[in-house]
Amino acid sequence: MATTVAAVRETVPGERRVSLTPEVAKKVKARGARVVLQDGAGASAYFADAAYIDCEVLDGSAALAQADVLLTVQPPSLEEISRLKEGAVVIGHLQPHLVPERTKALRDRRITSFAMELLPRTTRAQAMDVLSSQAAVAGYKAVLIAAEAAPKFFPMLTTAAGTIRPSKVLIVGAGVAGLQAIATARRLGAQVEGFDVRPETREQIESLGAKFLDLGVSAAGSGGYARELTQEERDTQQQALADHLKGIDVVVTTAAVPGRKAPRIISSAMVAGMKPGSVIVDIAAESGGNCELSEAGKTIVSANGVSVIGTFNLPASAPVHASEMYARNLYNFLELSLKDGVLTLDWSDELIAKTCVTHAGEIKHEPTKLLVEAL
Ligand code: NAD
Repeated sequence: MATTVAAVRETVPGERRVSLTPEVAKKVKARGARVVLQDGAGASAYFADAAYIDCEVLDGSAALAQADVLLTVQPPSLEEISRLKEGAVVIGHLQPHLVPERTKALRDRRITSFAMELLPRTTRAQAMDVLSSQAAVAGYKAVLIAAEAAPKFFPMLTTAAGTIRPSKVLIVGAGVAGLQAIATARRLGAQVEGFDVRPETREQIESLGAKFLDLGVSAAGSGGYARELTQEERDTQQQALADHLKGIDVVVTTAAVPGRKAPRIISSAMVAGMKPGSVIVDIAAESGGNCELSEAGKTIVSANGVSVIGTFNLPASAPVHASEMYARNLYNFLELSLKDGVLTLDWSDELIAKTCVTHAGEIKHEPTKLLVEAL
């Protein structure tokens, strides 16, 4: 019998993305699966039920109850998990480190769950990489938020009333989000600098027309990620950065170290040394913050008039394109296992094995297993 692939309304407040778009529903159906959608699931991303011509649109909780495979943006709630079929498959951005009770519930209902953010970052996985696609949205939006909050223009203007100097924008962290932020700030005409502890980012930053800010510290790690800095390296970085920030108008921070709290890069003292009216937008606010003052979802104004904006779920603020990319990422992952309309998991494929959190009543992801055992 054909596998039923389902998408439902996201229930986390503020979440406007949807895990399945009409375009992807068509592709899933073309692979022989049955596709069901909870009515209104795409509405907050402007995908009307009528646009899902390849889906059966079902009322209420029927789509969830019928799912053999549930595609999600946010992790399913405990209540949703309890209503899934035993042995169903869940694919999404599951963040198993946040709520171990959820993983326990998935295990106990013998759900096979895949956390897309655990995908190994290999070339083959790029088309499935939800972290990259959503980080690109976050980087773009963060710069727009900064431009809106700044009391200055970004570009240089030559007007009858004289010449306006361009804003100086510093992007901290030049991963996927940071590079998109650099590109966006450049398009707005700012004078942009990028900074990262991985030396290979210099070329990437410069290729976008920005200047690489060299603070004399290198922290190349394995797998293309940064490693944690030593205390001495951190001190060197901090002093040079404090001096440099005094001349900067806008900072967008995007620095992360996978699986750890975001590195603290901008201290309160550094903020106190910045010009009044400067703006800091901290994308890392949700994972602890790159700036000491930032709080996710809040704007803090320092005593010297610097606005520190801690963002919260930026991808949800561009739900059309964020959903389109996210749904394609999920499809590319699902496609590995969907043969003639039936889901067949190949556990010898590292993309399947390493992304799995729970399967057949067991927790397969070791760090999550430890968290659940500690409950
Ligand atoms: P990330 O979100 O983990 O981190 C963002 C950036 O912050 C990184 O560039 C990191 O070096 C930087 N950073 C960490 N600590 C810092 C500090 N103290 N000061 C300044 N910067 C700091 O990274 P990401 O955007 O997810 O990707 C990181 C790398 O992985 C990139 O090179 C990207 O191209 C690569 N990547 C590869 C694949 C793939 O091959 N499948 C997919 C996505 C990303």
